[in-house]
Amino acid sequence: MSTEAPEVIVRFAPSPTGRLHVGNARTALFNWLFARKAGGKFMLRLDDTDDERSTEEYAHGIVEDLGWLGLVHDILDRQSNRMAEYDKAAEKLKAEGLLYPCYETPEELEMKRKTQARRGLPPVYDRAALSLTDEDRAKLEAEGRQPHWRFKLAQEITTFTDLIFGETKVDCASVSDPVLIRGDGRYLYTLPSIVDDIDFGITHIIRGADHVTNTGVQVQLFRVLGGRVPVFAHHSMLQGPEGKPLSKRDDAADFSLMALREHGVEPMALNALLARLGTPDPVEATLSLDRLADGFDVARLGRSDIRFDLTELDKVNAGTLHMLEYDEVKERLQALDCDLGPDFWAAVRPNLTRFAEVKDWVRIAEGPVTPVIDDPVFASRAADLLPEGEWDETTWKAWTDVVKGETGAKGKALFMPLRQALTGIDHGPELKNLLPLIGRERAEARLRGKKA
Ligand code: GLU
Repeated sequence: MSTEAPEVIVRFAPSPTGRLHVGNARTALFNWLFARKAGGKFMLRLDDTDDERSTEEYAHGIVEDLGWLGLVHDILDRQSNRMAEYDKAAEKLKAEGLLYPCYETPEELEMKRKTQARRGLPPVYDRAALSLTDEDRAKLEAEGRQPHWRFKLAQEITTFTDLIFGETKVDCASVSDPVLIRGDGRYLYTLPSIVDDIDFGITHIIRGADHVTNTGVQVQLFRVLGGRVPVFAHHSMLQGPEGKPLSKRDDAADFSLMALREHGVEPMALNALLARLGTPDPVEATLSLDRLADGFDVARLGRSDIRFDLTELDKVNAGTLHMLEYDEVKERLQALDCDLGPDFWAAVRPNLTRFAEVKDWVRIAEGPVTPVIDDPVFASRAADLLPEGEWDETTWKAWTDVVKGETGAKGKALFMPLRQALTGIDHGPELKNLLPLIGRERAEARLRGKKA
């Protein structure tokens, strides 16, 4: 037998029942970075067995959102294509007595739980259905009851390796036998997921810590279905600003990737933040997913839940924009009708938090700007002193030196009135870069108090 480690294959497995939010993106990113660093493969698996809630539109949305982040998949499949495989696995489990039919209604199960609670017992399914005879079952079915099917757990402590939580134990004796097939014949997520993980040779399962308890059950299923048990990494959960968990279907919480994209978030800013959030390492803007992959190690992820903070994202977003060269943004500038050339981009880039803010600076360069002037005499004297000839980034210094000499104003008292007159606001890109873009004609008009 070969002892060589198999090629790393990971999967991100969302259900197409909503748009992806930042928490989902974090799971997808971890998987992608892990695969990239290991030279392995990243699978996108659409868990669409719930045909009432899954839609084609959401499936497209997921592919689009991941594409936006640059998390391109090497393998793509969807569970609705693979029903025959799940049926085969279910038949095998039934034949081995590991998947058994149950007929209790939700109300009956609720009654059982109440009785257990009264007696101080844990709410674990009592396996009453295992004692039904063929006759009992026939009778129940004649009454019109459709069975749901439970997996018969080995009542033992199940252990698995977790790269974040260490060796983890789940006491399967205190867990109800899980329902794998519903009364209407539909599969719940568990069985299809394990069958897929086995068939696609998934080596590592990186997902949210909300799945830890399920993992005990899943490890048992991997064993009985004859697959190698993957290595797990359950990462802590991402919370919204109020410390509440993010939910894919909660459209109100605007943390969907679609909403962030529409608000001008740079995908690499989100990647850079999510790759480091919850690790002791600093968040650094970067334009390279490969760089993030090089520095990525799931074992550096902490175990506590972590807050997602939009102000932090803004900071990384700004840092990301500041790294973009003119050639990389030319088309985006053109699309916004904001392409005033490389000097303009170089001048305004350090002031951007969101890309669309370039529009504000185009308006300041090209007008119309309503000047803000407290001292019209000073402003008009400054206008008289504007240099002739070609303007470049040395013009501002030459001009303000002369204005200083002539008026005695210096420091903030010199620069602020000029900035307010020239731009109408009191902050913005360096005026040595902005002045040549504004040009002599507009500068003079604004200094003389005219909207230009
Ligand atoms: N479809 C499951 C979910 O979205 C996948 C969980 C898993 O990664 O196993 O929760």
